[in-house]
Amino acid sequence: MFFGTLSIVRTKPLQGGDLFRDAADFFTANPNIKIRAVVDKERRPVGAVSRTHLLAKASGKFGRALFDNRDIHGFLEDKTYVVTADQRLTDVFADVSAKDVTSAPEGYILVGPDGRYEGVIDGLVVLRALLSQNATLIGDLNREVVDRRSAEEDARRLADTDILTGLINRRVFIEALDHCIQANDPAVLVFVDLDRFKYLNDKYGHAVGDDVLCKTAERLADWSADALPARLGGDEFAVLIRHAERNQDLLNELEQLHTLLCEPTVSKPGVVNVGASLGIAFYPHDATSRGDWLHAADKAMARAKSNNGGIKCFDAAQDLAHDKQSQLSDALRTAISNNLLQPAFQPIVDIATGEISGYEVLARWNGPELDFVPTPSEFIPLAEREGLIEEVFWCVTRKAFKAYTDYGLDLKLALNVSPIQCRNRQFVSRLEELARRSGIALKNIEVEITETTMFRDMTDTVAVLQELHELGVSLALDDFGTGYSSLSLVKDLPLSKLKIDKSFVQSAATSRNARKIVSAAVGLSKALNMKCCAEGVEQNSQLAYLRKLGCEYGQGFLFGRPDLDLSRASLPRLKAAG
Ligand code: C2E
Ligand code: CA
Ligand code: CA
Repeated sequence: MFFGTLSIVRTKPLQGGDLFRDAADFFTANPNIKIRAVVDKERRPVGAVSRTHLLAKASGKFGRALFDNRDIHGFLEDKTYVVTADQRLTDVFADVSAKDVTSAPEGYILVGPDGRYEGVIDGLVVLRALLSQNATLIGDLNREVVDRRSAEEDARRLADTDILTGLINRRVFIEALDHCIQANDPAVLVFVDLDRFKYLNDKYGHAVGDDVLCKTAERLADWSADALPARLGGDEFAVLIRHAERNQDLLNELEQLHTLLCEPTVSKPGVVNVGASLGIAFYPHDATSRGDWLHAADKAMARAKSNNGGIKCFDAAQDLAHDKQSQLSDALRTAISNNLLQPAFQPIVDIATGEISGYEVLARWNGPELDFVPTPSEFIPLAEREGLIEEVFWCVTRKAFKAYTDYGLDLKLALNVSPIQCRNRQFVSRLEELARRSGIALKNIEVEITETTMFRDMTDTVAVLQELHELGVSLALDDFGTGYSSLSLVKDLPLSKLKIDKSFVQSAATSRNARKIVSAAVGLSKALNMKCCAEGVEQNSQLAYLRKLGCEYGQGFLFGRPDLDLSRASLPRLKAAG
């Protein structure tokens, strides 16, 4: 704001020759005028007299008598402020207040561009103008603060939301979980993971993938006013419902949500189908800390996924068992890469002579990475499922071959080979190569295979076993009697030995059926020109029965337990043979 815009009082200025009286009378007659300029002959201001100042003097006891005839120049103000119309109020005021903060000037003398007197401006007018300007300044400032605040809010909203879908992001969602826990508010956490999303994204491109994600977000947002949906990342979403307890109504609603999420989406390539898996966990029913809660929902989700999608609630018994499994499979990987699996040797005894005819190699895992010792019945099926069985086999077999040649044995060594391995044609050449390098004759190697449902497509398996047979490796059918296809296997494969499962051997004393199976197995092996081996021989009575049937070989605790040390495993002889 400029001085030129204010109201200017264009009174006649005082000049040389004017007296105190003239000024005092003027102020008395014009009560609204606070200041009068004093100019020289050229009308350039030399100073100003102020109303308050002058009338104060005049009102003294002898004021007028003393001063009336004095020249006005004797009554000039100490500070006179001369301004031009184009000067800013704020500049001058800043100048003024820098010099004198105690009082504002009573008025300003306005001069033209030539420096000649034009009028005066009341100090109060200037002050008011400054205040009103400040008011707009304050307004501007306020507006700026508001703008900045909303900009900050925008920024925060941006930091809080997932840009693609507009849902809140993981960080904010986690805060919401924390709030629930702090308030001890029963709530349900639902993890949502799209099925086949990666495939879709790879096949049709990211634009279609984004479409599906947005559609999913929309469905989650529209589903229920009580639910807080979030995108956690990728194709993972989550929903939190506060004040929710586990009951059938809620589970029905979640079923509906699942159905809704599985509905086809229309995108560029046409109708797109993705499924969804939902993992559900309740606070405080399933977990009481944030970490456990997330973990529980995650576990339920993993089970839903492995079930080919759908919806699963956390189940401590199932999901923690699953946990132990995944812990075990991680540990198994470590054990394999650190070469920690060991062979144990269990003697197989010739029942007629009492001599050890060979050893079965059994895998052992006594690694320090677990607080319990998993048995082969636990880790072998796991290794088969996780595709680790090959590595387990070679790790154990390499060590077994070394121990065997170190010990200088010329007996049979029986290896347990998983049916999965028999589908791989390279198995034969690898085994041959390892045996050659270790100095073990192929005729001393026996491969034990188990009949399982995995023998579905037998073509490759039969070819591999045939090749082994042709190389001189002998084949034994393990756990005979427990499977379903025993007889067809016996017919199709070049087997030289049947191993009767220990369950029959051990029940033979008490079960007629078991006795029938054992004797039928021994009879079958004779009829087909195979040898027979009974497993799990623990008692002399069992041994006597087997000898009576004419079973050639026995294996069991009666003869010796599996031992990591081959020299110890070799010690026992057929104590009870005689
Ligand atoms: P399997 O091949 O039938 O091995 C015999 C099992 O019976 C061994 O259990 C052995 O310790 C046990 N055993 C031996 N004598 C007796 C006895 O007198 N009484 C009793 N109660 N048990 C006896 P293990 O070592 O726990 O192995 C279990 C199964 O794991 C094996 O059964 C075999 O199928 C599998 N397995 C073990 N090592 C390997 C391996 O390196 N590769 C593969 N593919 N499977 C293996
Ligand atoms: Ca075996
Ligand atoms: Ca067996």
